[in-house]
Amino acid sequence: MNVARLHAPGDLRIEDAPVPEAGRGELVIRVRTCSTCGTDAKIFRFGHHHISLPRVLGHEVAGEITDVGSEVEGWSLGDRVQVIAAIPCGVCHYCRRGQHTVCEDLESIGYQYDGGFAEFMRVPRKVLAVDGVNRIPEHVPFECASLTEPLACVLNGQELANVGEGDAVVVLGAGPIGCLHVRLARARGATTVMLVDVNQARLDLAARAEPDATIDSTKDDPIDAVRKMTNGRGADVVITATGVGQAQEQALEMTAPRGRISLFGGLPKDDSTIRFDSNLVHYRELSVFGAYGSAPRHNREALSLIAHGKVRVDDLITHRMPLADVNRAIETVMSGDGLKVVIGP
Ligand SMILES: [Zn+2]
Ligand SMILES: [Zn+2]
Repeated sequence: MNVARLHAPGDLRIEDAPVPEAGRGELVIRVRTCSTCGTDAKIFRFGHHHISLPRVLGHEVAGEITDVGSEVEGWSLGDRVQVIAAIPCGVCHYCRRGQHTVCEDLESIGYQYDGGFAEFMRVPRKVLAVDGVNRIPEHVPFECASLTEPLACVLNGQELANVGEGDAVVVLGAGPIGCLHVRLARARGATTVMLVDVNQARLDLAARAEPDATIDSTKDDPIDAVRKMTNGRGADVVITATGVGQAQEQALEMTAPRGRISLFGGLPKDDSTIRFDSNLVHYRELSVFGAYGSAPRHNREALSLIAHGKVRVDDLITHRMPLADVNRAIETVMSGDGLKVVIGP
């Protein structure tokens, strides 16, 4: 079978590899769609301290079961499934409290285990042990199911920041994750959703997510614009879906009293310090949340949101490419010219 294996930063090769067999407690799936994301592009360029190379990348995976290992119950050949990316250990201090995203022994598909940029993928025993395989309803296409994992991460962020009925929400960053935030905020009952970016072309592309307003922050001051749209109050929730520190600083200033800020996108590790006016947090009684990945239960709920039409994802897929073109797919992600770029071997 063909796989896309990263040998060194910038060196991603299509190679031949043996089709994996399912060992005890494992599954093997034929990958039908693996979606690409900004993290893949980051790993492609810089490697990652948790990834020992060579490694088959890809962690937003949907496919069908082609091999069932011994001691696996409840799964059969041909079942259509979505697989989690982040694999919690299930036994550490945080896992025991249900806080799987901050597991002390977190592993991931495409990091410690070969991922979905391949014709077939082994689903490790650890994934099944934490209920990390989800059945895709018949009417949901594989490519939509492959967006479950990023939506699960977005759901984790909005749960932590408690996005809900009546909120005015601002999303900074109009990439695919920003679009998912817009859609999910709407599904959770936000009344006004504003999308901010520094690039008008990206805002035009992201308009399909149907925010109430788009703000080009190179033309209009985003803090003024948000105040104008909220009777001077500011936003109840501001989500930064970008790796730019200035956006985090703006987020703090445009948040209304008692508002919540989700620092969803991480910053470059050599440039992760921002100017933080803590008096804004003090006097306005703001809360600042982080968000990192998703738990198995977020994947289950995200797939259900997609299946029930609560969060539409099909129109966020702008590019479909075969596995052989994985390098072009990652270039497309880096260029920002598209939203979701999916690989179908
Ligand atoms: Zn991802
Ligand atoms: Zn754990």
